Amino acid sequence: MPGNESPYFRIQEIGDGIWAALAKPGSGAWSNAGIVHLGDSALVIDAMYTPAAGAALREAAERLTKKSVRWLVLTHRDYDHVLGAQAFSGATVVATGVTAQSIQRRVPEYVAAVRADGGEYVASLEAEAREQDDSHERLQRLAVVSEHRALLQDVDRLAPLYPNMAIGDELTIHGSGRQAQVLSFGGVHTESDSVVFLPEARVLFCGDIVQIGYHPAVRHGTPQDWPAVMRPIADLEADVVVSGHGPVGSREDVLLAERYYYELPEWAAGHPVPEPFASWDASQTLVANLRYAAGPVR
Ligand SMILES: [Zn+2]
Repeated sequence: MPGNESPYFRIQEIGDGIWAALAKPGSGAWSNAGIVHLGDSALVIDAMYTPAAGAALREAAERLTKKSVRWLVLTHRDYDHVLGAQAFSGATVVATGVTAQSIQRRVPEYVAAVRADGGEYVASLEAEAREQDDSHERLQRLAVVSEHRALLQDVDRLAPLYPNMAIGDELTIHGSGRQAQVLSFGGVHTESDSVVFLPEARVLFCGDIVQIGYHPAVRHGTPQDWPAVMRPIADLEADVVVSGHGPVGSREDVLLAERYYYELPEWAAGHPVPEPFASWDASQTLVANLRYAAGPVR
């Protein structure tokens, strides 16, 4: 398909009128997004990291659907998914009430800190990255450094756009051609994580609570409650799953995530981490997860 090349992401068609925008590492996009043709308008899921990546995402959504973006859903509050939202002025920006409040509170502080710091933090991250002996780890860290650098280059025109529709646990968006469900069952990765499900197409956009082939970061919630977050998501029986990072996945990845959250407290109590999880990438995240699940530091 012509016009699919962007410096920020690669477009993958995952259904009729449904696309994943898969972030190119180090480009400033930092996280994946979704694009959905609703019939009379377009829906975008997550907004990427920099204003430039967000603008490219909106452009791609409107080019692919030939409709204007009426809806933007932010799955959770992390900067790599929300700072590009300013490109979506005029759209209804949806998040759970908890996520909306968190974005409103944290984003201005973060933007002010990035501006005030002027690159010192990124320089220290880069120095740390270069000290890594493991070349895989070094490359991954250098990609994160590049994401931050991309934001620094774009920070002058950063004018955050905040959610303007706060929802509870559920919202159904009725397009003329299809429905999209925004669902939240609690927090694992952040204090409130939501997913977007397209019931007819059986496509699920799940933010950062499902990761493919590497450890998802758990930072919030109560470990005993985590399986309760994943069970209803697994019950959706999605065929195609788009995570906030990495390649497009399948229902199997949701089931693995459910098992991961279920078993993590046992691993924290000393049981060995089984395969396939033992071979997953981002082993430092596993270390942090084990510490979190062992409690009581919250
Ligand atoms: Zn993320």
